[in-house]
Amino acid sequence: MLRIGLGRDVHRLVKGRRFLLGGVELPAQRGELGHSDGDVLAHAVCDAILGAAALGDIGELFPPSDPAWKDADSMALLRSVYDMAQQAGWTLVNLDCVVCCEEPKVLPFRDRIRQSLAQALEVSIDRIFVKGKTAEGLGPVGKGKAVEALAVCLLEKAAI
Ligand code: MG
Repeated sequence: MLRIGLGRDVHRLVKGRRFLLGGVELPAQRGELGHSDGDVLAHAVCDAILGAAALGDIGELFPPSDPAWKDADSMALLRSVYDMAQQAGWTLVNLDCVVCCEEPKVLPFRDRIRQSLAQALEVSIDRIFVKGKTAEGLGPVGKGKAVEALAVCLLEKAAI
């Protein structure tokens, strides 16, 4: 049995915060504002997996109103989400992602980000892809005020 999942997230970019994508810190003037560490890509991937497995969504499982998730390591959240999916019998077939921001450039860090996600999700790097896009100066992403991430994943489970 196969199930597809989609995730999307947006975070404001502000000075004095780290810019994290899939557990990798990129050098940047501004970083992601968030209750957790703000890793927009990790959050989008969590929601893609949760959606495919029909297990909820990240805001429901790790609510920003709960102080337990203050400055939370989003890759630890991702590992716990994938653990839930695995316990329900799912394994990841592949994951494809898009990160939209004006800066920094994602491409020089792409393979480190892929490796970081592959390690968290216990798959080989060829099952994970990440692309960087700009917004051509349009909207909050284009003005450098925000970063957006989209993720789509395929999960499989042996038919019973
Ligand atoms: Mg988020």
